Amino acid sequence: MRGLSGWGNYPVAQAQLLAPRSEAELQRLITDSPSVIARGNGRAYGDSAVGVPATLHMRHFNKMISFDAETGLLVAESGVLLGDIISAFLPRGWFPLVVPGTKFVTLGGAIAADVHGKNHHKDGSFRSGLDWVEVMGPDGTVRRCSAEENTELFNWTAGGMGLTGVILRAAIRLRRVPSAWIRQDTIPAANLDAAIEIFERSAAATYSVAWIDCLAGGDNLGRSLVMLGEHALLQDLSYDQAARPFAIPRASNRTVPPVFPSFALNRYSVRAFNAAYYWAGARKAGRQITGYDSFFFPLDALLGWNRIYGRKGFAQFQCVLPLDSARAGLRALLEAISAAGQGSFLAVLKRLGAQNSAFSFPMEGYTLALDFPVNRRSLQLMQDLDRITIAHGGRFYLAKDSRMSRDTLRAADPRAAEYAGMRQMSGLHPSFQSAQSQRLSL
Ligand SMILES: Cc1cc2nc3c(=O)[nH]c(=O)nc-3n(C[C@H](O)[C@H](O)[C@H](O)COP(=O)(O)OP(=O)(O)OC[C@H]3O[C@@H](n4cnc5c(N)ncnc54)[C@H](O)[C@@H]3O)c2cc1C
Repeated sequence: MRGLSGWGNYPVAQAQLLAPRSEAELQRLITDSPSVIARGNGRAYGDSAVGVPATLHMRHFNKMISFDAETGLLVAESGVLLGDIISAFLPRGWFPLVVPGTKFVTLGGAIAADVHGKNHHKDGSFRSGLDWVEVMGPDGTVRRCSAEENTELFNWTAGGMGLTGVILRAAIRLRRVPSAWIRQDTIPAANLDAAIEIFERSAAATYSVAWIDCLAGGDNLGRSLVMLGEHALLQDLSYDQAARPFAIPRASNRTVPPVFPSFALNRYSVRAFNAAYYWAGARKAGRQITGYDSFFFPLDALLGWNRIYGRKGFAQFQCVLPLDSARAGLRALLEAISAAGQGSFLAVLKRLGAQNSAFSFPMEGYTLALDFPVNRRSLQLMQDLDRITIAHGGRFYLAKDSRMSRDTLRAADPRAAEYAGMRQMSGLHPSFQSAQSQRLSL
């Protein structure tokens, strides 16, 4: 037994971490244990990849099996990191259709959370590029599922948070890209209305995301830097870049000290940081050519940044609000955060497109994500944010959740009861359980 948690280091549970190296061993662990849950690279914030008593570390299943250079179809084991796929295929002109804000996630984790990227409004979630998945069920049988075969299993597995079985292999489609560079346009938005207007008029942009200053109030409420991105064409690049369009300088990684003093993070330092970041971004507004790493994965350059929140860890709040109530809902959320003075360095706003999966998080509207150090006041604030979200018809992202109650989830998302019912009927419960599924009665 050891203390195990997600990326937020909260909550910590005593769990047994088992690391199978073969399908036969995995089969034995699943059939012998009262319950298990798969774990990829532990980048979900809370307790979704923590199984009490048993957690299955899946990183030894890390082979890429085949690639079709005509169609871009890659078959790989579930423990492969998206970062490894990018390193192997970007030099050949291919990139995953959908990537989240970190490349240190496994294929299995990306499917189980059905992750969304900055292009959800155009390309949908990870499932859009997923041809099939092979899943090991409670009796150790492996079933291939896709939109045509074992469709129900496929539908629940994408976004099912590991609760439909252990993903062994998958086939994903990569997209052809002209270079490893991104043509980025940064547009300052003086407040929330301006940010929403920029998103709405930029629907044709392939990638869009905004960093939002969640501590600004009054007329500046919701001031943001909206960033739009396109895969850069050769004509966008300098002479040197165009000569080797897939060779970009290695970003230097920096590491955060093991335990960062949590007093360094307070409302004054966060307010000062946010204001400085906004004005620095506003001064550099306009077009620039940037490497794919700094556009898609800016936080990855700061290794172990989750430790800046100190020993108690941190929690992320991420909700999505439907289009028609998004403006009012976001305003209410930002007002509550600003009034509480519980700001976050990392507040991100994205425009999502239509829902394309059975139990996945995204729906058409706006998603807001913020980090908070775990303490009594922030836990109270997040409950207030839960209520505001529910009052505006929104729902929550399970890959980020570490503290929601069963009733909150049920009130926000009628699909939760249906999912739990399906798990009971098909015998997936109790074989597959995480600390999160127990907390939320999934
Ligand atoms: C800095 C940062 C930025 C992020 N940005 C985004 C973003 O922009 N968009 C987004 O959607 N998400 C984002 N995330 C969340 C992240 O993409 C998801 O939590 C993802 O699931 C993590 O993958 P993992 O391999 O680390 O999985 P883990 O955290 O280990 O597990 C996550 C879930 O996947 C399940 N799982 C893992 N492997 C398997 C398997 N082989 N079979 C069955 N189930 C499995 C687990 O049981 C668990 O429920 C971000 C996270 C971080 C830390």
